[in-house]
Amino acid sequence: MTEGSSASEISAARLRGVPRWLTEAADAFVSVFFPAGCRICERLLATASRIPICDECLSSFERLPAILCEICGRPLPGLAERVSGPPLCPACQEKTYAFDCARSFAVYKDALVQAILLLKFERIAPLGAWFADRLTEVLREGGNALAADVVVPVPLHRQRERERGYNQAALISKPLSKRLCLPHKAVLLMRTRARPDKRILSLEERWESVRGAFATRPGSQVDNLRVLLVDDVLTTGATLDACARALLEAGAKSVVGLTVARAVRNPLLDSSTW
Ligand SMILES: [Zn+2]
Ligand SMILES: [Zn+2]
Repeated sequence: MTEGSSASEISAARLRGVPRWLTEAADAFVSVFFPAGCRICERLLATASRIPICDECLSSFERLPAILCEICGRPLPGLAERVSGPPLCPACQEKTYAFDCARSFAVYKDALVQAILLLKFERIAPLGAWFADRLTEVLREGGNALAADVVVPVPLHRQRERERGYNQAALISKPLSKRLCLPHKAVLLMRTRARPDKRILSLEERWESVRGAFATRPGSQVDNLRVLLVDDVLTTGATLDACARALLEAGAKSVVGLTVARAVRNPLLDSSTW
């Protein structure tokens, strides 16, 4: 447990229609008797929330700008004015990615980096659910282009998942599938090759490390399905691309990638390409 079960019990009580004065009193009680700091900025949490991050930090996450590459969702600063058709980044002009489309909630920086680390290493399920709410909004804004039949988390290698005890992508994809009323297929994809231990330095190494590293599980049904593929962070797009290739090979109709965070400035990319 992170914050103590009292906070979650009080949140549950609120849902059951407990009078407002009582929940307010409960919030005060929690902050006095169970003082807990925001796990990002250490500010005292004022309300009984199951997410150990304060409202200021949650609202500091920077949403992606409106002008994005139509395919991979990369922000295109200043490019929209110069193109006539749908805006495409240089990588998508060269048809780099196998997925049909990718979108994200916010820019991978500052407080969001820390929030993702909390999700990844401390299994804070309510935070995964909060991210699922934000991704539901992203899907709603994206309309039909992001429609799907099934939700699939990007898998960890079996050994890594055993060590960690869970897959952080599934902490997001599972509540998301519930909100969308779609089936959640956590075992449809598998990672057949583990990520190398050494730190990956170059863009080429990053792509090489995931090429062919995913496969659909024998006998799994993916034929003609539109797959919504969920992960925590999109950095180069190589992981979503490798997963999409495996899904499309197995007969998926389309693959849409959806991540909480997106690295906007990839330090591995030469900025002169912009
Ligand atoms: Zn904070
Ligand atoms: Zn693109």
